[in-house]
Amino acid sequence: MTNSKTEVAIIGGGAAGIAAGRRLRAAGTDCLVIEARPRLGGRARTVTDQSGFALDLGCGWLHSADRNPWLKVAEGQGRTIDSTPPPWTKPTLPIGFSLAEQHDFSNAMEGFHERVETAAKGPDVAAATLLAPDDRWNNLIVAVGTYISGAEFNDISAHDFANYADNGVNWRVVEGYGATIAAAGDDLPVALDCPVRRIDHSGQRLRIETAKGVITADQAIVTLPSAVLAENERLFTPLLPEKTQAARGLPLGLADKLFLSLDRAEEFDPDIRLFGANDRVSTAAYHLRPFGRPQIEAYFGGSHAAALEAEGERAFFEFAVSELVSLLGSAFARRVKPIHMHRWGADPFARGSYSYALPDMADCRTALAAPVDGRLFFAGEACSRGDFSTAHGGWITGVSAAKQVIAVRQGKHV
Ligand SMILES: Cc1cc2nc3c(=O)[nH]c(=O)nc-3n(C[C@H](O)[C@H](O)[C@H](O)COP(=O)(O)OP(=O)(O)OC[C@H]3O[C@@H](n4cnc5c(N)ncnc54)[C@H](O)[C@@H]3O)c2cc1C
Repeated sequence: MTNSKTEVAIIGGGAAGIAAGRRLRAAGTDCLVIEARPRLGGRARTVTDQSGFALDLGCGWLHSADRNPWLKVAEGQGRTIDSTPPPWTKPTLPIGFSLAEQHDFSNAMEGFHERVETAAKGPDVAAATLLAPDDRWNNLIVAVGTYISGAEFNDISAHDFANYADNGVNWRVVEGYGATIAAAGDDLPVALDCPVRRIDHSGQRLRIETAKGVITADQAIVTLPSAVLAENERLFTPLLPEKTQAARGLPLGLADKLFLSLDRAEEFDPDIRLFGANDRVSTAAYHLRPFGRPQIEAYFGGSHAAALEAEGERAFFEFAVSELVSLLGSAFARRVKPIHMHRWGADPFARGSYSYALPDMADCRTALAAPVDGRLFFAGEACSRGDFSTAHGGWITGVSAAKQVIAVRQGKHV
């Protein structure tokens, strides 16, 4: 590609960009998805291991599955939907964490969530202020918070946390959520390996400068991760400081998965969880035998994941082995091997895993989503008030931005 033109440029080919592209195509609008990576999907990414199992390195759960628009897409692609209840809805393996302690912990967690709901009716605060003082379960509550939000509660807006809308139905796609999302873009016109460097909206047509040339367009839908927008304040000419500010209020938290192979897996029930420890924040959650496979999916979040990322991939494996050995005995080390992982924080086109709002910044989601001059539209999970941090939040905001573009092209005011 050198120079080219389109009616609508879609910047970023993740869940939001693909959903926007499908909606525009369905309306007969010419569009082009411009994607920096050599693949579609963004933070949705499935890889296949040596045994042929699909491993989701990014999104894996169809959250709010029975209202999740990706469900229909997956079914339309002939995928297999697994509705086994997720491990976090069942008792944890009672190793180093008795059932009585788990019961206590659940009560403490419920109390925290109730305080968040109440706090949502008053002025915003950091979610950490809603932890019960000196409660013995606070560290584990914070650790679980780092898996959910990718950050510690000191940094998280209680309002935003309370706004998250989840109906508790969580399913999976056996062949991969990431594979489903990427394949949904198969019929779209796409420029891959094509990072956008500047979006010049000073002239009559938009000029989108990329690594492979300039693309001109009537409108653009920008779906870049909030962390990428936050660090590229010169992306827009003229500058759009209100967008940079909004994106800075919505950092990407960090969550990383490490997949391990597991020998003699039958010793454990399928789809069961084990915490590495229940008295510290720097611990991983281990999902044993996902889909019944002879594997472990280890989940790391927040500043603990960031510290391990800084040391390299091996550090995740060594940490997981050290926790598993302390719970299951030293011989366990010989039963696990690393298969795959991805460091989302080090990924230049993500810079993290999913967005959270800083205290007092929950409204940044609406500010980020607001269109500019009827020509620049915004989508991506961070733009969703209630479905943020998810792939279906990406879809919903992508479709919403596409509908706004279609309305503008029909001469309507948005
Ligand atoms: C470990 C992990 C676990 C997760 N688990 C779940 C889960 O179970 N369920 C769930 O629903 N969600 C989950 N998520 C979150 C989910 O993956 C994301 O919310 C969703 O995929 C985001 O979609 P998006 O389109 O908003 O952004 P992205 O997928 O990030 O899309 C943005 C696109 O922009 C591209 N881009 C970046 N810079 C440029 C540039 N300069 N020029 C052009 N293109 C550029 C990127 O490459 C990317 O393709 C998880 C994420 C991670 C990392």
